[in-house]
Amino acid sequence: MDLNRPLTYIKKMTAKHADIFHKNLNLSSLNDLLYFFPFRYIDRSRFYKIDEITNSGADVQIIGNITSLMEVNQKRGSRLVGKFQDETGSIELIWFKGQQWIRKLIQPNKPYVVCGKLNFFNKRFSIVHPEMYLLDDYRKTIQSKLYPVYPSSEQMASKGISRRIFREYVQSLIQQIAPDVKENLPEYFVDVYNLLDKRTSILNVHFPQSLKLLEKAQYRLKFEELFFIQLQLLKKKRLRKQKIKGYVFESVGRNFHHFYQHELPFDLTHAQKRVMREIRKDLRSNAHMNRLLQGDVGSGKTIVALLIMLLAIDNGFQATIMAPTEILAVQHYNAINELLTHMEVSVALLTGSTKSKKRKEIHKRLIDGELNILIGTHALLEDKVQYNNLGIAIIDEQHRFGVAQRSKMWHKNRLPPHILVMTATPIPRTLAMSVYGDLDISVIDELPPGRKEVKTVHRYDNNRLSVFHFMKQEITKGRQIYVVYPLIQESEVMDYKDLMDGYESISRAFPNPNYQISIVHGKMKAEDKEFEMQRFIKGQTQIMVATTVIEVGVNVPNASVMVIESAERFGLSQLHQLRGRVGRGADQSYCILLSSFKLSSEAKTRLKTMVETSDGFKIAEVDLKLRGPGNMMGTQQSGILRLKIADVVKDTSILYKARQAAIKLLEEDPNLSKPENVAIKNTYTELSRKTGVWSNIS
Ligand code: ADP
Ligand code: MG
Repeated sequence: MDLNRPLTYIKKMTAKHADIFHKNLNLSSLNDLLYFFPFRYIDRSRFYKIDEITNSGADVQIIGNITSLMEVNQKRGSRLVGKFQDETGSIELIWFKGQQWIRKLIQPNKPYVVCGKLNFFNKRFSIVHPEMYLLDDYRKTIQSKLYPVYPSSEQMASKGISRRIFREYVQSLIQQIAPDVKENLPEYFVDVYNLLDKRTSILNVHFPQSLKLLEKAQYRLKFEELFFIQLQLLKKKRLRKQKIKGYVFESVGRNFHHFYQHELPFDLTHAQKRVMREIRKDLRSNAHMNRLLQGDVGSGKTIVALLIMLLAIDNGFQATIMAPTEILAVQHYNAINELLTHMEVSVALLTGSTKSKKRKEIHKRLIDGELNILIGTHALLEDKVQYNNLGIAIIDEQHRFGVAQRSKMWHKNRLPPHILVMTATPIPRTLAMSVYGDLDISVIDELPPGRKEVKTVHRYDNNRLSVFHFMKQEITKGRQIYVVYPLIQESEVMDYKDLMDGYESISRAFPNPNYQISIVHGKMKAEDKEFEMQRFIKGQTQIMVATTVIEVGVNVPNASVMVIESAERFGLSQLHQLRGRVGRGADQSYCILLSSFKLSSEAKTRLKTMVETSDGFKIAEVDLKLRGPGNMMGTQQSGILRLKIADVVKDTSILYKARQAAIKLLEEDPNLSKPENVAIKNTYTELSRKTGVWSNIS
């Protein structure tokens, strides 16, 4: 049978139910349902006694009798409550729907098997809308010891597709189409990688005959899934390298040498040197570079960017840096200008608030080729910004830009400029490999010497006075302090109120003339922001009250305390970024996370993680676990979201193997043209057609 047929081809599937599948789970063809895998399994050989139950949320099956049934009226409708008893105790069974029907169906005091998820409510265990079988029937129906639980929703159950009905549909489907499930990997491949065959895998992933077969089935399906993703990414990377030519930066010239030997204010770390080598290797080849530079906050990405830009200039090209905020662009501009004081390199700044006259002048110098380095914000993407010969575009803090914006950089030139995307948000290796598998990645995994770990504590709001006291002590030592408030778009009005209230209370606690306070937030004019930033940078103010506008990249080494208000409202990577603003100088730095008492368990995990570690990669792993890959930056447009069975967090080792398999295959048969690989080629073509091109950085 053609597996692209609609779900109504399944025996007994009604149009109404098919519609529910479509609306709730976006499943419309037989194939869709076939590849919709259970998210766990219940061991049918395991029966619980009621007094063994300890854990709400667990899936259990219990043998017992229904000893009473009672209707309980409540505000909205009524519920039917059954007392379900075995020799060790009792629990409640609860129905909100179909009560008439249940009443008629139930045979009191006969042995039943009841399955479902335990709730704990009013000090009692209960199961809502349990699956129920008469014990005798149940024994007859057993086909496999493990039975699947599909990630169907409460909503579906209330519309008539209970877990049991869901399972029955899948069972019918499998009975109907089993002969049509064909192997889509070559025989030799299945052998070499020791995989279970396709049909057995599909059958066993839905209805496992044994735990061992289930494991083999899952392994095979995960391997296959990750293999094809890697194959697509790697093929795309090969194509890019072959097809897209890039400018060649052959020579290391005057500017680079001079800067390296006379102006560089410190020795590069080993990691910085390694990354420089990796980038320079790209730039010497005649392929186009598309590279992600990851480095934790404070790891020194800016200097790498500058060295690379000097290399471009030495080879007769222009270079540009694009930053996500005006503050950051200004800061790059100032820092780079200062580093280049003794050199004849022309640098300009272009942002939204650059005056029109100045802007025109920049446009002209740029197209004439007189300008070497242009630094700016989104303003760089305007059509009027035309380069004479842009050789490299460096994009700082990539997650702030959309894919479309990045690709705009490309179209400004004869050849696409080399692209270096710098990010401080560490992407776990596995995720990077699966999402950005077609990019080259460099990592600065070492901080400059002498950095002290930032001491991080979590305090509740009612400790604010002692926090203020601590702040005063630090200010007395000559330090500066950030106090950051969340600004979430949805609650913007309230957030501004919080910020202003906070500012007032800080102004009262730190009065003039002993203390000076800066305030910076998104609603201020750029020049006012800049003015306030400068006062803080120059040490004229001791406290900077701000919203997250300071999140990205601001560098004030004398600032050694970061106080984060309502820390529970920030995501992990944001907290990590914010903390990275301190700990840049020689002094001991502190990060104080203030929160209310009411914390979700996720928020608790976030704060605990921050207190326990400062390793950006560890933090990213926790973040990935908490939020799932779908919410990680940059992954929205990628194939990672469409994973059906593999899990980029848990299945790392399979991912490595699948990637190796894809690499090996492409080495031996780059165009998938060998006859023995025809099965792979077919699946690959089919997948590419369905998923389109995987997105990438540029
Ligand atoms: P980020 O990677 O977060 O952008 P920056 O480039 O802003 O980090 O660097 C943070 C600070 O570390 C800057 O003050 C910079 O001058 C300094 N720095 C960078 N590299 C080194 C190094 N190798 N040795 C000492 N200090 C360094
Ligand atoms: Mg930076």
